[in-house]
Amino acid sequence: MKLYNGDLYWPETYKHISKYKQLNEVITCDVLIVGGGMSGALCAHTLSKLPIKTVLVEKETIGSGSSTANTGLLQYANDKMLHEFIEKLGEEKAVRFYKLCVKAVDDLEVVANELADPVDFIRRDSLYYASSEEDVPKLQKEYDALKKHQFDVDYLDKNAIKKMFSFEKPAALLTKGDAEVNPFKFIHTIIKNAHQKGVRIYEETELQEIGSDEEYMYFQSETGKIAAKKVIYSTGYESIPFAKKIGGKLNRTYAIATTPLPAFPNWTENCLIWETKRPYFYMRTTKDGRIIAGGLDEKINEVPSSKSIIEKHSKLLLQKIKEHFPQYNVDVSHAWVAKFGESVDGLPFIGQHPKNDRVFYCLGYGGNGTVYSMIGAQMIKDLIVYQSNPDAEIVRLDR
Ligand SMILES: Cc1cc2nc3c(=O)[nH]c(=O)nc-3n(C[C@H](O)[C@H](O)[C@H](O)COP(=O)(O)OP(=O)(O)OC[C@H]3O[C@@H](n4cnc5c(N)ncnc54)[C@H](O)[C@@H]3O)c2cc1C
Repeated sequence: MKLYNGDLYWPETYKHISKYKQLNEVITCDVLIVGGGMSGALCAHTLSKLPIKTVLVEKETIGSGSSTANTGLLQYANDKMLHEFIEKLGEEKAVRFYKLCVKAVDDLEVVANELADPVDFIRRDSLYYASSEEDVPKLQKEYDALKKHQFDVDYLDKNAIKKMFSFEKPAALLTKGDAEVNPFKFIHTIIKNAHQKGVRIYEETELQEIGSDEEYMYFQSETGKIAAKKVIYSTGYESIPFAKKIGGKLNRTYAIATTPLPAFPNWTENCLIWETKRPYFYMRTTKDGRIIAGGLDEKINEVPSSKSIIEKHSKLLLQKIKEHFPQYNVDVSHAWVAKFGESVDGLPFIGQHPKNDRVFYCLGYGGNGTVYSMIGAQMIKDLIVYQSNPDAEIVRLDR
């Protein structure tokens, strides 16, 4: 499955990546992780702290799936607002899920700080603005819901926004506690660290399950075999195992990185910026002075190979940046298009197979895929070690 096309930005920022050998032997382990993207990396990191024999296999190279197209915004606020989740799930579950997302951003910071190399993790506020006057009541409702449940958020009116930025919007929320990261560096550094802690890593190893007995499940690649007591599928958008009620949707989305600037005047504290319109436009800055912007999602489950489609959308994204910051003299330096998976109800697919307690899924669907992957890694660790997690019910696969 082709996951993206175009000129990706992140691989250029990190050249010293470690290589891992192909599986060419017969091995056994306690936990097998299938997939070496953000979800697999965070699962490997979490399990590397425990006396569990863990193996991770990636069919191509580490971080080469959709995680490398990721724009690296780490936000607790979801594509579905808290008040919308409350209407669908009820107050208790919705608030608990939002709190899990806040904690996941904190946990991602802990992970980043545990690594030997920097991964450009920086704490940022997020500006979530009303795209039109009609969206202001929705934003006000969201502010009330967040405030009621003690989330750290400020309401900004037109004048407050004007003082902080060079653009005018009818209203906005400024949420605290978010962050940005270089996802490519993050995955590679996490995997390197997990490998040093004893997790066996194999690249260019595509696995198929071939059977099981009471003790083990058996997997086979072209050149090797693995017997595993448990398996975590962190295979990204390649599998939607329970697609009936909560179904996954695959769309495509566009992103660009710009030429660098020495500074970002009138962009208060380089916060993450997004909006209430759907599909939304969003942008962030990078450590080397670029702007990464994304959006223009299309309900098409296919990545175009034509350069002209990518170019057309990259111009539109650049134009959006200039509508916000007309004084910035920037051009497009990288432009890409990628598949993007979402679940119908806005919640991730995390947890135990409903009929097989040895099989787990950690699938990073959604605009907050990295935050969801962190929640998934912790939750699956609990399900493996303690056979329970108090929040597993919210995101369970057969919900
Ligand atoms: C343009 C774009 C922007 C995004 N921006 C953000 C953002 O700002 N913030 C955010 O939180 N999220 C964002 N996301 C979402 C985020 O990228 C995903 O949620 C996340 O990367 C998914 O990680 P993953 O590990 O689940 O999948 P992947 O990175 O795709 O990893 C899965 C891996 O499994 C491997 N695999 C599959 N089958 C097998 C097999 N049988 N054997 C061995 N290996 C196998 C694949 O090769 C792949 O490397 C964005 C996504 C896109 C496309």
